[in-house]
Amino acid sequence: MGAYVFDTNALLRGLTLGFAREAYTTPSVMRELKNQVTRTRLSAYISSKKLRVAKPSKRMMLRILEEAKKIGEEGKLSKTDVEVAALGLALQSQGRNPTVLTDDYSLQNLLSKIGVRFKKVGLRGIRRRMEYVFVCKNCNQVYRRYRVTCCVCGAPVLRKAIRKEELS
Ligand SMILES: [Zn+2]
Repeated sequence: MGAYVFDTNALLRGLTLGFAREAYTTPSVMRELKNQVTRTRLSAYISSKKLRVAKPSKRMMLRILEEAKKIGEEGKLSKTDVEVAALGLALQSQGRNPTVLTDDYSLQNLLSKIGVRFKKVGLRGIRRRMEYVFVCKNCNQVYRRYRVTCCVCGAPVLRKAIRKEELS
């Protein structure tokens, strides 16, 4: 049976609407939901095993970070995003059929790169996959990976889209 992996916003919705399929989330998402009412509901779902909190392995986290670097999303993803993607990939590599629920564009972009299915919960999802390079504002030095400042001249580095791939 398929499983859903919830990011923070998706989980907030899930708490209201209930969980249709086996539901997973991560410890970082749990930490982001600080509201007391939410926590009470969460623990009810957890004790009835409708929601499972799973922490992906460090190896899986590192693999996600590597993939994020390749498409230039590294700087746009929070630790929670990385954890959610890593959990999705971990479930998939165990032969599960997971769908990550998220409205975060960078996370959706990453998931499409690693071949994990996602579904938006509120806003429109992405229609194409973007790839980026990073260009120094001052001297135009190009970097494949995200960095805050240029190592040649020290000026800020900006993200620039170089490729758009339509997603079916
Ligand atoms: Zn520069």
